[in-house]
Amino acid sequence: MVQVTQPLTHDAMQIPFRNGLFDPRMGNMDPRQSPCETCGGDSNECQGHPGHIELGASSLGRALTLRAGVPVYNAMLFPHLIQLLQAKVRQLRVFN
Ligand SMILES: [Zn+2]
Repeated sequence: MVQVTQPLTHDAMQIPFRNGLFDPRMGNMDPRQSPCETCGGDSNECQGHPGHIELGASSLGRALTLRAGVPVYNAMLFPHLIQLLQAKVRQLRVFN
């Protein structure tokens, strides 16, 4: 699995950087590009391959979090978090 550490996506010739967000090992979205480096498929055949970002550990993570060790939350999960907290508060009221 590709670890994305490069904050830049393409060089001056518009070639994707290795370990960048468009690393050719994670798939090929452009039919003009060479085949995917992982499966060999073209843009119609390759469904993409996962990559990951170590937030707070990589240069890209530091660029995103501004400093190492800052927790990052998925805002899409906030409604579930609120429901859990509300349920816990109701449960605590029963015992008080
Ligand atoms: Zn592929």
